Amino acid sequence: MDLLKLSIPTLAKMLREKKISSQELVSFYLERIKKHKKLNAYITVLEDAVNKAKDIDMKGIKNDDPVLRGIPYSLKDNMLADGVKTTCASRILENYIAGYDSTIAKRLKDSGAVLLGKTNMDEFAMGSSNENSHFGPVCNPWNEKHVAGGSSGGSAVSVSAGLSQFSYGTDTGGSVRLPASFNGVASLKPTYGRMSRYGIIAFASSLDQIGPIAKNIEDLAIAYDVVSGHDPKDSTTSIKNKDGMYEYLIKEVKDRENNFSRKTVGIPRDMLIGGCSKDVLNSLEQSKKVLTDMGFDFVDIDLPNSKYALAVYYIIVTGEASSNLSRYDGVRYGYRTKDYEELKDLYSLSRGDGFGDEVRRRIILGTFVLSAGYYDAYFSKAAKVRSLIKKDFEKVFEKCDSILMPVSPVTAFKIGERTKDPLEMYLSDIFTVSANLAAVPSLGFPAGRDSRGLPIGMQLIGKHFDEKTLFTTAWMIQKQKPEWFNNIATTVKEKKVIE
Ligand code: GLN
Repeated sequence: MDLLKLSIPTLAKMLREKKISSQELVSFYLERIKKHKKLNAYITVLEDAVNKAKDIDMKGIKNDDPVLRGIPYSLKDNMLADGVKTTCASRILENYIAGYDSTIAKRLKDSGAVLLGKTNMDEFAMGSSNENSHFGPVCNPWNEKHVAGGSSGGSAVSVSAGLSQFSYGTDTGGSVRLPASFNGVASLKPTYGRMSRYGIIAFASSLDQIGPIAKNIEDLAIAYDVVSGHDPKDSTTSIKNKDGMYEYLIKEVKDRENNFSRKTVGIPRDMLIGGCSKDVLNSLEQSKKVLTDMGFDFVDIDLPNSKYALAVYYIIVTGEASSNLSRYDGVRYGYRTKDYEELKDLYSLSRGDGFGDEVRRRIILGTFVLSAGYYDAYFSKAAKVRSLIKKDFEKVFEKCDSILMPVSPVTAFKIGERTKDPLEMYLSDIFTVSANLAAVPSLGFPAGRDSRGLPIGMQLIGKHFDEKTLFTTAWMIQKQKPEWFNNIATTVKEKKVIE
């Protein structure tokens, strides 16, 4: 049996029937992590996970236990897990050990899922290629000379290379969806407020959301269910009831498969002109065809202010980051320079040595856009255009139930190809940042591969708190195109483990 092909519900059933133990499952992944160390997907690997799994096996897994009990997963290294090193891929936090659990880590712990380790990322989640890590770039397992995508590159690779059953990243401007699309796996950037940010290292607080990454839609739904919902420790979380997405998919949607109510999907054609590769555009047409064959209607839509999205995003994100990152002063956290005479030097030398180039660039830009005299011209103006972008979405959603478009204009580029020009790197986010600015949910799904064999990803963007439409639509696509899902990167795939 090829363990790498199995979904969470199948593994959960096998664990209950004792066809496999949690210990076997965890050891299987730990071995693979060791074997594929070159991909650089993990910053910290928790060898002790085996003992946690042993404990679970000893206590037994009962039918009514949470479905994730005994199943291994990974977390991006900007999420605190009590007693575990949390570096944010930065020198400044190189030796920082978390003193408490983030809500996400706590909820997963309570569900009995087993944490395998913390995944590599762009430093402080700033980047689109995972080349900005203090611990080196993450390689794309479909072609190791190419980038994994960022900033949650390690999380995406942990799933696409079979180094974890499922994972989580954070998405401030595309960091869950972009690496997932470069790796051929599914992902979700939930509505702002669906997920708790308690214990997540802040980047840009009005945009940050955590999101699951998995190789199929049912795993994604389970990973979403376990961590979503109100958290008294994060006042920006919504008090809305949890979706119970997996149950919804298998009970309600399944029965309605043949008479699924017709939905309308919008495509922002104008946004896609120029820049998109031929392969990506072909893949978009294929997804459209799959949905059309199932009775979905399509309309062309216009998001006129999205042409400003990237500029608005990079003003807001740098402004918020410069303020969030002021806490790393060499006194309270992490790295401290040894050579200083005055307090001012302690601050500037610790920060100068502790942060990498991209983080320093963002802090400088952010401090500038927030400074007196420039605030109105930049930050405040960007905030106004942000509301226009949000209004565009509201208007479009009077005409359609979701929006279909590529996650990225191109597939994974070569390592080093865009590092010299930050602006070119920022262009990678052109299709992802709008959903964050408008706070709407977006589900990324794999949609075939390009002529070089590299994965292509599409996204479905929905109305606030309407993750259900996105999951339902993606689930229907998966039914029609199973070959797009459950793929482990060919270069690292090895069959057979447990018969
Ligand atoms: N690539 C974007 C940036 O560098 C998005 C990052 C993210 O979503 N964390 O800001």
